[in-house]
Amino acid sequence: MAAKEFTFRCLKCGHEYQGMYDAKNVTERSCPKCRSNSIRRLPAGKAAKK
Ligand SMILES: [Zn+2]
Repeated sequence: MAAKEFTFRCLKCGHEYQGMYDAKNVTERSCPKCRSNSIRRLPAGKAAKK
């Protein structure tokens, strides 16, 4: 099973990007564009129903 992919959004510049979220290896999440660490993880949408 592959790692889950999430969409992240930078609260500073609004840049959205896809990325893996590994709970046991929480690296610093920073915007690849502006390097801000104000990143918000967006809901997975249709990927998985609860
Ligand atoms: Zn940014």
